[in-house]
Amino acid sequence: MAANKVIPIQAANPVGEDSSGFSLYEKTVKIYPRSVSGQFARLRWVMVWVTQLVFYGLPWLQWNGRQAMLFDLVERRFYVFGLVLHPQDFIYLAVLLIVAALALFFFTAVAGRLWCGYACPQSVYTEIFLWVERHTEGDRQARMRLDAAPWSVQKMARKGSKQLAWMVIALITGLTFVGYFSSIRGLLSELLSLTLSSWEWFWILFYGLATYGNAGFMREQICKHMCPYARFQSALIDMDSMVIAYDERRGESRGSRPRGADSAALGLGDCIDCTLCVQVCPTGIDIRKGLQNECIACAACIDVCDQVMLKMDYPKGLIRYTSGNGLVQGLNARQIIRRVNRPRVWIYGALLVLVCSAFAYNLTTRLSFSVDVIKDRGALAREVGPGEIENVYRLQIMNGLEQAQRYTVSVNGLPGLRISSDPQLEVQAVGIASLPIRLTLPPELAAQSRGKTLPIVFEVQTSVDGRAESRQEKSTFYVLP
Ligand code: SF4
Ligand code: SF4
Repeated sequence: MAANKVIPIQAANPVGEDSSGFSLYEKTVKIYPRSVSGQFARLRWVMVWVTQLVFYGLPWLQWNGRQAMLFDLVERRFYVFGLVLHPQDFIYLAVLLIVAALALFFFTAVAGRLWCGYACPQSVYTEIFLWVERHTEGDRQARMRLDAAPWSVQKMARKGSKQLAWMVIALITGLTFVGYFSSIRGLLSELLSLTLSSWEWFWILFYGLATYGNAGFMREQICKHMCPYARFQSALIDMDSMVIAYDERRGESRGSRPRGADSAALGLGDCIDCTLCVQVCPTGIDIRKGLQNECIACAACIDVCDQVMLKMDYPKGLIRYTSGNGLVQGLNARQIIRRVNRPRVWIYGALLVLVCSAFAYNLTTRLSFSVDVIKDRGALAREVGPGEIENVYRLQIMNGLEQAQRYTVSVNGLPGLRISSDPQLEVQAVGIASLPIRLTLPPELAAQSRGKTLPIVFEVQTSVDGRAESRQEKSTFYVLP
């Protein structure tokens, strides 16, 4: 009997390795951004203060005796200062999202990732959490030493105080976020008396945990791997968009030298290869390798490099805000700014102005109430007298004002048609009420339209601060055969 041929089983490559044994996955290396000062660092902190004052402060503002900014999901009403929006006004939310997207396109085309560097919550909270980290564990070198050191009472105290401060900030952030959806004053008093509902606890901890995890641990990983904007930003910028770039022609060849040395004689450019621009980078990249997806345009490398240039008595701006063409063609600041005038900027700008104008017009001229006409499906029509036809409707009126309103209903479109029920209704503040309406068509007119469905128009009127408002809703009147 022939022996079975044995095919040896090869060991598969370990997961994440190709056939040559190289890992296909990059190990995440912890980044220890060095602190930096300078004009852009100050600007970033101004933005931290502005955004946080707005975020933490808005829910505490009052308007007409209620929270000025409240997205009340239970009552299905959104309060934005004097504006009260209902679920049917969701179109405004959709338009706001379009405005935000267009604004992002516009500002990216003009000045790159301004949003990421100065206003994105991920950058802002990372900046705050890093500030805490520096004040509890020290700057870059001290933090690296602390992480490498064995556990001790001092290490536990430093790490513990950092974690505690992070948790407090995260919890306040979670509470504030939930305070946009449920009265923040109520939430705070429930928190202090430990009577928060389980759902309130869940959402506060959920958003708190998201803040803690994203700003404390994930940091640049969010920007590098989870943020979609980093992926499509390259489609939004061109060679004339402002970006943060290293001037290779001026900086290379890089190399260290004593202060006051003759760089030209040494064959060196202005970069002294101090690597400070890499050490301050929150995403851990080397800007000298060119524009990279990971760059969030925080400008920390500009600040630190300018300080190095000042110390070396070189002109500032080895790393600077410029454009691709600015670098290649050696354009000055005025020439770069002049190139803002280009088609994609005009198109994004025009669309932005158009949508914002339409949004503002619609918002300022919108009526304070809405009407739904519901026809009685049980009996389309009935004869209420000799030859006289009646149709029954229900008008549902939603009052968007924060005061009770009286509404008057009339009907048009069919001569002789009259309302044979009370045409008036009072609706309480921000309330909904229904008004039954009976319409009657006299015998002589009904005789002319037997078996027909005729178009009619309801008109609902009210007066707001002496200004008349009226809304029309189409419906039909059915005449029995
Ligand atoms: S900070 Fe400036 S001088 Fe120092 S390595 Fe970076 S580019 Fe070169
Ligand atoms: S390269 Fe410069 S601007 Fe870009 S993220 Fe790093 S420090 Fe910020």
